[in-house]
Amino acid sequence: MSTLHRVDPGTHVHLKEIEADGKKLHDDRDAAEEEFKKYRKKIADLQVRLYAEDQQKLLVVFQAMDAGGKDGTTRAVFEGVNPQGVRVVSFKQPSHRELAHDFLWRIHWAVPPKGMIHVFNRSQYEDVLVVRVEELLPKKVWEPRFEQINQFEKFLADTGTRILKFYLHITKDEQKERFQERIDIPEKNWKFSKQDIVKRGDWDEYRHAYEDVLSKCSTKHAPWFVIPSNQNWYRNWAISKIICKTLEDMDPQFPEPESGLDKVVID
Ligand code: AMP
Ligand code: MG
Repeated sequence: MSTLHRVDPGTHVHLKEIEADGKKLHDDRDAAEEEFKKYRKKIADLQVRLYAEDQQKLLVVFQAMDAGGKDGTTRAVFEGVNPQGVRVVSFKQPSHRELAHDFLWRIHWAVPPKGMIHVFNRSQYEDVLVVRVEELLPKKVWEPRFEQINQFEKFLADTGTRILKFYLHITKDEQKERFQERIDIPEKNWKFSKQDIVKRGDWDEYRHAYEDVLSKCSTKHAPWFVIPSNQNWYRNWAISKIICKTLEDMDPQFPEPESGLDKVVID
């Protein structure tokens, strides 16, 4: 199992000290892009087996600052899978109904059943990120959530779910360029909201909140990975490699054919 960019439990994460630039970590972009295509193909092949086997479950979580690349990663890494066996769940502002329940209620509804890969675009972690920074709830409510999330993820792992959590690490300068692109290119306008500027103003508060998430909630059963994401090609390479290695380790198998199938001839 790859330990590339994994946050070991007990590590105190300082994001400013972690490289966001893939160029500094991989000197051969062309080679990385070729390898990425191989990992992506392998992921697609293994996903077919996972679905056919109908026993194991994989949960992939993406979190990032705005414009960090959650959508783009999902599109790139899962291109080629059978859509029947993969579900992407985006967590938006909770509805009235969701808010009437505990914060993990809507999350538990969305976890993968046997045979499935579920991709979370945002997740339970919003409840200790945006909720904290925007002071939607008092500290006495959100602080116990780190432990509650750890216990919840332990429960999922104990009941057969493999969990991978990716923080897409970009710099504030990179976010600036991506926001500007969303403003300048008409086809990207829909991705930008003026609210994004407000959140950008709280960059340091979000960074601090993310550091707590990464430091407190990277566990053996549900590790966090901090992926240098200023370059999409490096990000795609690293994430596809980690997902591929995890699926290889899960080693899904096609189920045994029904007995006597080798003698069946269709006329
Ligand atoms: P987007 O992913 O750009 O479509 O935006 C979804 C928005 O929903 C983001 O601003 C999130 O911070 C927000 N959001 C997601 N989960 C929660 C939550 N539990 N509480 C409050 N806001 C949330
Ligand atoms: Mg948005």
